[in-house]
Amino acid sequence: MIDPALVEERVTALRDRIDRIADGRNVTIVAVTKGFGLDAVLAALRCGLSCVGENYAQELLAKAGALPADAAAEWHFLGRLQRNKVRSLAPVIDLWQSVDRAELIDEIARRAPGARILVQANLSGESQKGGAALAEIPALVERAGEAGLLVEGLMGVGPEGVPEQARSGFRALVALADQLALPCRSIGMTADLEVALQEGSTMIRVGGALFGPRPAR
Ligand SMILES: *Cc1c(COP(=O)(O)O)cnc(C)c1O
Repeated sequence: MIDPALVEERVTALRDRIDRIADGRNVTIVAVTKGFGLDAVLAALRCGLSCVGENYAQELLAKAGALPADAAAEWHFLGRLQRNKVRSLAPVIDLWQSVDRAELIDEIARRAPGARILVQANLSGESQKGGAALAEIPALVERAGEAGLLVEGLMGVGPEGVPEQARSGFRALVALADQLALPCRSIGMTADLEVALQEGSTMIRVGGALFGPRPAR
């Protein structure tokens, strides 16, 4: 069960953590509700967090469908994306954060023309985490632009373990985003958000820091 008052306290604490490091930079908080119920989405919206992130198509669509019509959530897709899920997600997704290969670019351009995307970089070397190698990213960004998609930036997931181990990958992602003139840098989760903010994050994706430990799947 989600306690909305507790989420509110945690949002305040999170904003303090951000402000201490981000030095006036505008940082978007994406509330990651995977594994939690609709009450987590509602609690986040009530606190003024409008961006909600999910990793699984079915779970996202179930929650989006159950939201009251007047609830203004902006849905972000964060997980490994299968091409055959793009069609059902297209009417709902506001920002596709995990775009990491050409076939997804082509399919999103077909099903959601002009959609906003981030290209996901693989920062950990673990292939199951998804993401394109940094060297492949300029070509993917170019392809997406040619397909009419709006590439707003890059997304990356740091390696598990000591937060400091994420720093070099975050730094490389930010350098590449600078080089490609992409404004959005979606890096930093509950465990490594300080490091990400130090390295220039403009968007953090947090679940645990808002809702507590995630129930086992
Ligand atoms: C689960 C997840 C998050 C949030 O993780 P927390 O540790 O709960 O903050 C952020 N980004 C992605 C891609 C995720 O899968």
